[in-house]
Amino acid sequence: MGKEITAAQLATVYELGNLFSANKLPLNQVLETLVGSLNMNETSSTNYMRNFAALKAGKVYKRAMSALSYQVFLAKFYQDLSISDFEKVLHSITLHLQYRWSKSKVKHKEIRKLLAEYQSKLALLIPAPPFANEVTDEVIHKANFPEGAIKQVTVNAYERNSRARAACIAHYGACCQVCKTDFEKVYGNIGKGFIHVHHKIDLASIRESYQVNPIKDLIPVCPNCHAMLHTETPAMTVEKLKSLIKS
Ligand SMILES: [Zn+2]
Ligand SMILES: [Zn+2]
Repeated sequence: MGKEITAAQLATVYELGNLFSANKLPLNQVLETLVGSLNMNETSSTNYMRNFAALKAGKVYKRAMSALSYQVFLAKFYQDLSISDFEKVLHSITLHLQYRWSKSKVKHKEIRKLLAEYQSKLALLIPAPPFANEVTDEVIHKANFPEGAIKQVTVNAYERNSRARAACIAHYGACCQVCKTDFEKVYGNIGKGFIHVHHKIDLASIRESYQVNPIKDLIPVCPNCHAMLHTETPAMTVEKLKSLIKS
């Protein structure tokens, strides 16, 4: 379904999909526009509407969509929806990818990558868990891995997690390597040792045999700088962020 459908057509599909899934526009009227005016195929248009309703409800859908569809829809959903509604959309896509994988071992790498990007954006918007300094990028970004590789890599990540973190902090100190914030200096005893550890390697490029280098691959950063690093995908470099800081 839909590889030939343009971004402009998808923008209309998005508008109509919102109305359709909110029961504000019946399918026949949607089809009048998509098939009648935009010359889209009727089956494809209908599938888009069914998928759209599932996406907004956080449910599984079965018909595949083009990577461009995900690009257009996710960008718009990200702008238009609340965090919890956007989470539903991401959950729905996750279910769809699991379904596609179980049916036909299709990986949909491009869509997975996009999904992982939005999952990490979302992770940064959600209030940090109490032990945020123990959450590594590897855990946050695990959705980048193809099915099957996920479990193995995260198990490895957990195993080496605290040691790699400790080695990184031992080398650099528990001090943001972008803005130099030292939580102990600011907050006293309660801030002692608090820091995020950012993983500099683009996780999409990592293989199962990858071994983290705590000094080359990890870097201590404060939560603010960490969030700013992840405003780009893959994350921007520490050097670039330093150059952006206004003095
Ligand atoms: Zn910082
Ligand atoms: Zn990071």
